[in-house]
Amino acid sequence: MKIDMENLSDEQTKIRNNIYLKSSIWSGLIVFVISIFVYFYFKNEYPIICYVLSILSFLILFPVVFMVIKTAEFHGVYCKNCNSPFSIALQDVDESLICSVPRQRSRVVGKSISGSNEGLNRVIHESWIEEKYEVLKTYTCICCSNSYIKKSNKTRETNKTSDEYYD
Ligand SMILES: [Zn+2]
Repeated sequence: MKIDMENLSDEQTKIRNNIYLKSSIWSGLIVFVISIFVYFYFKNEYPIICYVLSILSFLILFPVVFMVIKTAEFHGVYCKNCNSPFSIALQDVDESLICSVPRQRSRVVGKSISGSNEGLNRVIHESWIEEKYEVLKTYTCICCSNSYIKKSNKTRETNKTSDEYYD
Protein backbone atom coordinates (compact mmCIF):
# COMPACT_ATOMS: atom_id res chain seq x y z
CA MET A 1 0.00 0.00 0.00
CA LYS A 2 1.62 3.20 -1.15
CA ILE A 3 0.03 6.32 0.19
CA ASP A 4 -0.09 9.53 -1.76
CA MET A 5 0.02 12.18 0.96
CA GLU A 6 -0.54 14.99 -1.48
CA ASN A 7 -3.82 15.74 -3.21
CA LEU A 8 -5.87 14.87 -0.13
CA SER A 9 -9.25 16.47 0.21
CA ASP A 10 -10.13 18.35 3.42
CA GLU A 11 -12.13 15.38 4.68
CA GLN A 12 -9.26 12.97 4.01
CA THR A 13 -6.82 15.30 5.76
CA LYS A 14 -9.16 15.36 8.75
CA ILE A 15 -9.26 11.55 8.92
CA ARG A 16 -5.46 11.40 8.57
CA ASN A 17 -4.88 13.95 11.36
CA ASN A 18 -7.29 12.08 13.60
CA ILE A 19 -5.28 8.90 13.12
CA TYR A 20 -2.04 10.73 13.95
CA LEU A 21 -3.60 12.07 17.13
CA LYS A 22 -5.14 8.74 18.17
CA SER A 23 -1.93 6.82 17.43
CA SER A 24 0.20 9.29 19.42
CA ILE A 25 -2.08 9.11 22.45
CA TRP A 26 -2.29 5.30 22.42
CA SER A 27 1.40 4.68 21.82
CA GLY A 28 2.24 7.29 24.46
CA LEU A 29 0.09 5.51 27.03
CA ILE A 30 1.29 2.01 26.16
CA VAL A 31 4.98 2.94 26.13
CA PHE A 32 4.60 4.99 29.32
CA VAL A 33 3.30 1.91 31.13
CA ILE A 34 6.20 -0.16 29.76
CA SER A 35 8.80 2.41 30.84
CA ILE A 36 7.29 2.55 34.35
CA PHE A 37 7.59 -1.23 34.43
CA VAL A 38 11.25 -0.96 33.34
CA TYR A 39 11.88 1.59 36.10
CA PHE A 40 10.50 -0.68 38.84
CA TYR A 41 12.17 -3.77 37.39
CA PHE A 42 15.67 -2.24 37.67
CA LYS A 43 15.02 0.10 40.62
CA ASN A 44 16.58 -2.02 43.36
CA GLU A 45 19.61 -3.23 41.47
CA TYR A 46 20.49 -0.04 39.61
CA PRO A 47 19.07 2.97 41.49
CA ILE A 48 20.39 5.56 39.03
CA ILE A 49 20.62 3.66 35.77
CA CYS A 50 16.96 2.69 36.09
CA TYR A 51 15.96 6.30 35.24
CA VAL A 52 18.12 6.22 32.14
CA LEU A 53 16.81 2.80 31.10
CA SER A 54 13.25 3.93 31.66
CA ILE A 55 13.65 7.08 29.56
CA LEU A 56 15.61 5.21 26.89
CA SER A 57 12.95 2.53 26.57
CA PHE A 58 10.34 5.26 26.13
CA LEU A 59 12.36 7.03 23.43
CA ILE A 60 13.15 3.81 21.56
CA LEU A 61 9.75 2.13 21.83
CA PHE A 62 7.54 5.15 21.18
CA PRO A 63 8.31 5.46 17.43
CA VAL A 64 8.00 1.68 16.97
CA VAL A 65 4.60 1.38 18.66
CA PHE A 66 3.44 4.57 16.94
CA MET A 67 4.35 3.11 13.52
CA VAL A 68 2.54 -0.17 14.24
CA ILE A 69 -0.69 1.52 15.38
CA LYS A 70 -0.55 4.13 12.63
CA THR A 71 -0.03 1.52 9.90
CA ALA A 72 -2.92 -0.61 11.17
CA GLU A 73 -5.18 2.47 11.30
CA PHE A 74 -4.12 3.54 7.79
CA HIS A 75 -5.13 0.11 6.49
CA GLY A 76 -8.52 0.45 8.16
CA VAL A 77 -9.38 3.65 6.29
CA TYR A 78 -7.94 2.66 2.94
CA CYS A 79 -10.55 2.03 0.25
CA LYS A 80 -9.75 -1.08 -1.77
CA ASN A 81 -12.43 -0.18 -4.26
CA CYS A 82 -10.98 3.12 -5.49
CA ASN A 83 -7.52 2.96 -3.86
CA SER A 84 -8.03 6.19 -1.92
CA PRO A 85 -6.27 6.62 1.40
CA PHE A 86 -8.06 8.09 4.46
CA SER A 87 -11.45 7.68 2.86
CA ILE A 88 -13.44 5.23 4.98
CA ALA A 89 -15.86 6.78 7.46
CA LEU A 90 -18.39 5.19 9.79
CA GLN A 91 -21.78 6.18 8.50
CA ASP A 92 -24.37 4.24 10.42
CA VAL A 93 -24.67 1.93 13.43
CA ASP A 94 -27.67 -0.34 13.71
CA GLU A 95 -28.29 -2.50 16.77
CA SER A 96 -30.99 -5.15 16.83
CA LEU A 97 -31.98 -7.27 19.77
CA ILE A 98 -31.48 -11.00 19.15
CA CYS A 99 -32.59 -12.35 22.50
CA SER A 100 -33.00 -11.41 26.15
CA VAL A 101 -32.46 -13.90 28.94
CA PRO A 102 -33.32 -13.35 32.61
CA ARG A 103 -30.36 -14.20 34.86
CA GLN A 104 -29.90 -14.43 38.59
CA ARG A 105 -27.19 -15.19 41.09
CA SER A 106 -26.93 -15.51 44.86
CA ARG A 107 -23.72 -15.28 46.79
CA VAL A 108 -22.76 -15.40 50.41
CA VAL A 109 -20.82 -12.30 51.40
CA GLY A 110 -20.37 -12.80 55.12
CA LYS A 111 -21.86 -13.87 58.41
CA SER A 112 -23.83 -11.89 60.94
CA ILE A 113 -21.99 -11.83 64.25
CA SER A 114 -24.61 -10.15 66.41
CA GLY A 115 -28.28 -9.25 66.69
CA SER A 116 -31.28 -11.34 65.71
CA ASN A 117 -29.52 -12.76 62.65
CA GLU A 118 -26.48 -13.94 64.59
CA GLY A 119 -24.78 -16.92 62.95
CA LEU A 120 -26.73 -16.58 59.71
CA ASN A 121 -25.11 -16.02 56.30
CA ARG A 122 -25.51 -12.64 54.67
CA VAL A 123 -26.63 -13.35 51.10
CA ILE A 124 -26.81 -10.97 48.17
CA HIS A 125 -29.27 -11.93 45.49
CA GLU A 126 -28.90 -10.26 42.11
CA SER A 127 -31.05 -10.50 39.03
CA TRP A 128 -30.76 -8.90 35.62
CA ILE A 129 -31.73 -9.27 31.99
CA GLU A 130 -28.96 -10.24 29.62
CA GLU A 131 -29.61 -8.78 26.18
CA LYS A 132 -27.75 -9.92 23.08
CA TYR A 133 -27.54 -7.52 20.17
CA GLU A 134 -26.39 -7.85 16.61
CA VAL A 135 -24.50 -4.71 15.61
CA LEU A 136 -24.26 -3.69 11.98
CA LYS A 137 -21.81 -0.90 11.23
CA THR A 138 -21.97 0.67 7.82
CA TYR A 139 -18.76 2.19 6.49
CA THR A 140 -18.71 4.35 3.39
CA CYS A 141 -15.88 5.62 1.24
CA ILE A 142 -15.99 9.41 0.99
CA CYS A 143 -14.32 9.26 -2.44
CA CYS A 144 -16.26 6.61 -4.37
CA SER A 145 -19.28 6.12 -2.04
CA ASN A 146 -18.70 2.37 -1.94
CA SER A 147 -20.09 1.02 1.32
CA TYR A 148 -19.75 -2.18 3.26
CA ILE A 149 -21.17 -3.59 6.46
CA LYS A 150 -19.30 -5.05 9.43
CA LYS A 151 -21.23 -7.42 11.68
CA SER A 152 -20.51 -8.00 15.37
CA ASN A 153 -22.29 -9.01 18.55
CA LYS A 154 -22.70 -7.20 21.81
CA THR A 155 -24.08 -8.17 25.22
CA ARG A 156 -25.69 -5.72 27.60
CA GLU A 157 -27.05 -6.17 31.13
CA THR A 158 -30.18 -4.25 32.05
CA ASN A 159 -32.78 -4.04 34.84
CA LYS A 160 -30.22 -4.92 37.48
CA THR A 161 -31.65 -5.38 40.93
CA SER A 162 -30.05 -6.68 44.06
CA ASP A 163 -31.33 -7.37 47.54
CA GLU A 164 -29.85 -8.70 50.73
CA TYR A 165 -31.16 -11.23 53.18
CA TYR A 166 -29.96 -13.54 55.94
CA ASP A 167 -30.17 -17.27 55.60
ZN1 LIG B 1 -13.44 4.36 -2.43
